[in-house]
Amino acid sequence: MALCKRRGFIYPASEIYGGINGFWDYGPLGTQLKRNLREAWWQDVVMNPCGGRPGPHGERVRIVPLDTCIIQHPRVWEASGHVAGFSDPMQTCRACKKLFRADHVAEMLEESEWGKAVLEMTRTAAAPAERFAYAREPLAKWARTKGRQLAPGLAIVLETPKVAAAIESRIEASGAGEFAPLELLSLLATANAGGALATPCPNCGGDLTEPRQFNLMFETHTGAVRDDASKTYLRPETAQGIFINFRNVCDTTRVRLPFGIAQTGKAFRNEVTPRNFTFRSREFEQMEIEFFCHAGEARDWYRFFCDWRLAWWQSIGLGGANLRLRAHEKDELAHYARDGAGTSDIEYRFPFTAPGFGELEGVAHRADFDLREHQRIAGAKLEYFDSERGELGPNGQPKGERYLPHVIEPSAGLDRGVLAALCEAYSRDESRPSPEIMRFHARLAPIKAAVFPLVNKEGMPEVAERLYLELCSRFGRLGFIETDAKQSIGKRYARMDEAGCPYCFTIDGQTLADQTVTVRDRDTGAQERIAIARAADYLGAKLDA
Ligand code: ATP
Repeated sequence: MALCKRRGFIYPASEIYGGINGFWDYGPLGTQLKRNLREAWWQDVVMNPCGGRPGPHGERVRIVPLDTCIIQHPRVWEASGHVAGFSDPMQTCRACKKLFRADHVAEMLEESEWGKAVLEMTRTAAAPAERFAYAREPLAKWARTKGRQLAPGLAIVLETPKVAAAIESRIEASGAGEFAPLELLSLLATANAGGALATPCPNCGGDLTEPRQFNLMFETHTGAVRDDASKTYLRPETAQGIFINFRNVCDTTRVRLPFGIAQTGKAFRNEVTPRNFTFRSREFEQMEIEFFCHAGEARDWYRFFCDWRLAWWQSIGLGGANLRLRAHEKDELAHYARDGAGTSDIEYRFPFTAPGFGELEGVAHRADFDLREHQRIAGAKLEYFDSERGELGPNGQPKGERYLPHVIEPSAGLDRGVLAALCEAYSRDESRPSPEIMRFHARLAPIKAAVFPLVNKEGMPEVAERLYLELCSRFGRLGFIETDAKQSIGKRYARMDEAGCPYCFTIDGQTLADQTVTVRDRDTGAQERIAIARAADYLGAKLDA
């Protein structure tokens, strides 16, 4: 995060006003990194789907683009189920008023500063009763000192003797069975020895309310009058814009099933607990495909997309053990997916989820749920007439079949993709003067190359400028080409390592004599000398451009 801020990848949004929770702005390098990831997706999904490889039955994979509105008719979100069901159970702290997603509280407690402190204190002894006896004194002391700062709302901090006594009587009553970490933290929040255990607030240790449903959609109003009739929503996903245009795309293009529609764009969710940097934001960008096919082919396409999408993330540098495809368990499946081919997530092991994983992209078989609901609520005909199916007629040709297509939805998060690329790229080489290196895949690197005059005199800046302009005109569409004459060459290389620039060309004294430059490779730090006339082709071969 520090490097992201320092080098202009990502800034907290509204920072000069103290920031706004769940929102992030991208700086110059981050903007280009994000653009490169979006562009890679666009090229490989829309312009040249799956690199020209055929679909599961040998057919060409066809995907057309779309760009739909953030605000749609409010009934779209009734049909999609978002008005009724797009909610998370939420708990509020009665002391500090912070909100938490109920299913995040346990994890947040164990990660909280006070939770970690308490668990550390009670870790030393083996059996819980012993552990408590051992920890009673330090705990009471902690409650009187550090605990007051870290967890001022925690019962043991507010009523130390009473809670300590309650814990002991519970241990006695239960015969001191093993305590899970969460149970242990809950004990410290419970003053009454007889009642149910309280769940403390991860922030201040205070008392949390019962979980309540909280709709995640941002509401707004369209037009001058702010009443229920003018209420609209910022879209919580880009997918619905695709479903409601399915008929339009079929009617106005020559696409035939199976085919996909793809869209990238902003989505908004009023997340209860935005956290983990950009991983869970309130405004984020999605890259979604809705792939329409006959119900009988849905399983094959589902498997095809699971394999393809995993291979795609690998192709842009997220290889290795940090990436995996995980099929959802039955009880995780959305209501529409229960009887279908299933849902799988492509997950990345982020530093903050490790050893666990976090979702990058979900691949879901949505069956005909969305089209059916829009057909029902909008009263529009969304069935597809497939002239190549159905019984054979007297002329030996199929009579055609009318049906609602099934949908396979690979839905990826662009910001999560950028975050994964940042985490994967971040590495340290303590042998270098400035040890932080961003080893981006060349396709994603926001700066593609840098051109440096070794010193800012003796004709070197002029030669550097010419090479810089040549590289800009040839590769500028892919990312930045930088030039920089300030500071020592070592510092300039270090700056480029931190920005993840894969190649640096340096013009030195020898360049003026024999028209050669050095090229430095970011990952190895090794340098080679090549003819300046070959520099652009050299970079082109390395960038595969
Ligand atoms: P989660 O379980 O993490 O809340 P989800 O299952 O609700 O995610 P989907 O509705 O499947 O997510 O959204 C598709 C993709 O959009 C996700 O894989 C993720 O990459 C991205 N995404 C969803 N919510 C957020 C968010 N709050 N911030 C950033 N990206 C998000």
